[in-house]
Amino acid sequence: MQSAKTTHDETARGGVSPLFSGLLARCPRCGTGPLFRNGLMLRSRCESCKLDYTFIDTGDGPAVFAILILGFVVLGLALFVEFRYEPPVWVHVLLWGVLTPLFAFVLLRFLKATLIALIWTNKAEEGRLAKD
Ligand SMILES: [Zn+2]
Repeated sequence: MQSAKTTHDETARGGVSPLFSGLLARCPRCGTGPLFRNGLMLRSRCESCKLDYTFIDTGDGPAVFAILILGFVVLGLALFVEFRYEPPVWVHVLLWGVLTPLFAFVLLRFLKATLIALIWTNKAEEGRLAKD
């Protein structure tokens, strides 16, 4: 039976903390260059240390977590406001119609930057089988 070996190096890279990089949306290697331009558009490389960002492929990961977290928080807040203050419907429409996209933007930016930092720090990539 042929054994499957991966070519993945198990050692993690150094760099700044993924949480720090995620909170400030900075480069995972140097921690100074911004990751995004115009909010959530990914840059092609770090302005400071020239780290190439082509390795980045977060897929739907940040969006899934953002949907789950945002749904829980916004629904909880909406229920709290409804049962505590009993406002008219237009207050809910105005309040959550404005706050939800703002929460989503901040949360997506944080989650995407954190996932990028974790990908870079742990050298995450698609699994491959080694050829002997
Ligand atoms: Zn950098």
